[in-house]
Amino acid sequence: MKKEPFVTLEQIQEITKTYPTPFHLYDEKGIRENAKALKEAFAWNKGYKEYFAVKATPNPFLINILREYGCGCDCSSMTELMLSHEIGVKGDDIMFSSNDTPAEEFAYAAKIGAIINLDDYTHIDFLEKTLGYIPETISCRFNPGGIFQISNDIMDNPGDAKYGMTEEQLFDAYRVLRQKGAKHFGIHAFLASNTVTNDYYPMLAKVLFELAVRLKKETGADIRFINLSGGVGIPYRPEQEPNDIRAIGEGVRKVYEEVMVPAGMGDVAIYTELGRFMMGPYGCLVTKAIHEKHTYKEYIGVDACAVNLMRPAMYGAYHHITVLGKENEPCDHVYDVTGSLCENNDKFAIDRPLPKVDMGDYLVIHDTGAHGFAMGYNYNGKLKSAEILLKEDGSAKLIRRAETPKDYFATFDCFDIIKNLV
Ligand SMILES: *Cc1c(COP(=O)(O)O)cnc(C)c1O
Repeated sequence: MKKEPFVTLEQIQEITKTYPTPFHLYDEKGIRENAKALKEAFAWNKGYKEYFAVKATPNPFLINILREYGCGCDCSSMTELMLSHEIGVKGDDIMFSSNDTPAEEFAYAAKIGAIINLDDYTHIDFLEKTLGYIPETISCRFNPGGIFQISNDIMDNPGDAKYGMTEEQLFDAYRVLRQKGAKHFGIHAFLASNTVTNDYYPMLAKVLFELAVRLKKETGADIRFINLSGGVGIPYRPEQEPNDIRAIGEGVRKVYEEVMVPAGMGDVAIYTELGRFMMGPYGCLVTKAIHEKHTYKEYIGVDACAVNLMRPAMYGAYHHITVLGKENEPCDHVYDVTGSLCENNDKFAIDRPLPKVDMGDYLVIHDTGAHGFAMGYNYNGKLKSAEILLKEDGSAKLIRRAETPKDYFATFDCFDIIKNLV
């Protein structure tokens, strides 16, 4: 499928009159249509709820759009909990799926009424010591070990992942939690990341549904929800076929009717914690070509760098690039597209065929709406960019200002060594 930007050169020329590049731009229309499609795909399940994985795109304006479609928040840290609470997300619309969790974060999650999803068996005692009690509603994260396979394709390697409890631990956990006063239970698992197949959720659902039936039978636990977590992916590459969320919802429904309904568990809610699928395609990094360099290779230097988007440097991830205004020109030049960090892996693309890039051209780096801005950092003293929302009416709204040097120096504010800068 041809990958097309959701923004035109004319729109970017207009936006850059007010906001200089680089910035992350988000597509309100795309976010809304996708959130609506997800909601419809799981409408068959009465208790269904998507808890948006805040870590993917921790911007309150974007989260508030998702809330219009019934989404809650899935948090992994103190500040994500604070953000969700502060914008008015109510207690059990917040899922706290953390790992290696500090005591104060459990305490805060309990205080605001979030649902706590325990990553480990030892966290039962840790939580009880921290709170002085075990919450009535609690969830446990499952890790079946081994490899997770769909027919012959290895999707991921849970046996190597630090997350979750073994099956034996999970059964013990439910028994112990019941003794300690827990009344309502959830099960959670995240077994494969960025899956581009309609089979992942249905397969995971089968594993968790069968487990839930046995857990109920053997421990007597009142299971209220099954959390399929994240992992539904997006087509970063043009040749990839996008997931069909309707087919995924239908696939899960089929397994639910096969496994849950006959076991008398037809009232159990399905939860999801999607991040990438909710936002990934609806964000892009807009950057400007500022240098061309001809040495042993051809380089285009842009005004963004890996601090704005870490995935290519960190995972060698592919992000499609469009040179705005040259959408229909032949890709007859081959470039490395680089940022300015003193790190040779600061490349958005390597040996990428593109149309001839001229200085001042705007490049759209696709699919940065999740795990894009959010993974940003400040190496080389680089500052984080602005985030801008392209609204449905075509206008642009600033939803996070760019960092300034003052922000960067702010953590020296209790000293007087550079007081003129802070
Ligand atoms: C990262 C994460 C998610 C979201 O994952 P995506 O791949 O963005 O869908 C959901 N739940 C947990 C616990 C996570 O760590």
